[in-house]
Amino acid sequence: MKVEKISLKLSHNSYDIVIGPGILQNLGKYLRDLSLGEKIAVVTHPRVDRLYGAQVRKSLKDAGYSPVMISLPDGERYKTLDQVGRVYDKLVAHRFERDATLVALGGGVVGDMAGFVAATFLRGISYIQCPTTVVAQVDASIGGKTGVDHPKGKNLIGAFYQPRLVCIDPTVLTTLSKREYIAGLAEVVKYGVIFDPAFIGYLERYTAPIKVLEPGKILYCIKKSAAIKAEIVQADERESSLRKILNYGHTFGHAIETMTGYRKYKHGEAVSIGMVMASRLACMLGILSEIALERQVALLRSFGLPTRMPRLDPGCLLSVMERDKKVVDGVIFFILPEKIGSVRIMPVDRKDLKVFLRSVFSR
Ligand code: NAD
Repeated sequence: MKVEKISLKLSHNSYDIVIGPGILQNLGKYLRDLSLGEKIAVVTHPRVDRLYGAQVRKSLKDAGYSPVMISLPDGERYKTLDQVGRVYDKLVAHRFERDATLVALGGGVVGDMAGFVAATFLRGISYIQCPTTVVAQVDASIGGKTGVDHPKGKNLIGAFYQPRLVCIDPTVLTTLSKREYIAGLAEVVKYGVIFDPAFIGYLERYTAPIKVLEPGKILYCIKKSAAIKAEIVQADERESSLRKILNYGHTFGHAIETMTGYRKYKHGEAVSIGMVMASRLACMLGILSEIALERQVALLRSFGLPTRMPRLDPGCLLSVMERDKKVVDGVIFFILPEKIGSVRIMPVDRKDLKVFLRSVFSR
């Protein structure tokens, strides 16, 4: 089995991201190499447990561990402090101590929650990310943002806390629903637009094989995306500057998700529309060419991602965006592309935003 390794170097807590088909079967060995304590708990969802739990358990047992399995209900609405409390209860019941380790096996929801438990239980224990969705493999598992939602907003409670290792097995993506898989590709396109024009060329050339999960092509996409994320996190771990560019498409995207009750769109689908909106705004402000906008729209469409803004009330949309985390002193900062492969972080005047939204909804 060929394993690719990306080293994420930080002033404290550097770690590796290992990527390769079948890597989950060797999880136990990787954990042994980290010289962790003997107590291990795997935090997962019932569906992921059914699909990959046995494989992970076997690998851990073969390496001499006796893992405790903790299965949490599936879905963003369970990314709560209540569920985190349930995990604490189990860890206490099993007498977990400071040298214990959590393994997050699942998508971004499991990863964010398990990471938050690891950050806070006994003031911090080790954790390993084993992401099983595209979103989690290319984004959520890397960079140490952990947390849960509050009834008033997404990810309002959390901590920066880096994992000891990220283990990415691309073969697990084959069991995702087609829609879930494609939605995750929006985040892959995002990396090209914000950072790497050559990667956009690759995605254009190989759209068809990527859509059907051709192993070599999807492995490259994950590797490339993970490497870009690692480079950005290395430069700005706490999101004081550069890391903000990872939010490209997310101000509009989050507002779309909020206004459609998190039901109509998957996160990646809302980000896809959000990226198109941010690019259109950039065109209106004269910093992006129509050609670059159309190139991006064509790529997203060819993956089967939505690009059209749904009919929403522009006034409500504006006020939802104003509650977003990217607002400073009442001014919304947008990540706007200047060309494919490069973005800038820019405040946009409320007046300009109103004109923009009016033009979008009058079409
Ligand atoms: P998710 O974790 O809800 O997973 C989506 C669905 O896929 C779930 O129903 C899950 O059970 C199922 N699933 C997972 N792996 C599977 C597999 N291999 N086969 C079949 N089904 C599988 O959603 P997500 O899109 O992975 O993550 C979204 C979450 O990630 C959000 O809460 C978001 O805030 C968070 N996130 C965090 C960061 C970060 O930096 N921490 C970055 C991006 C997103």
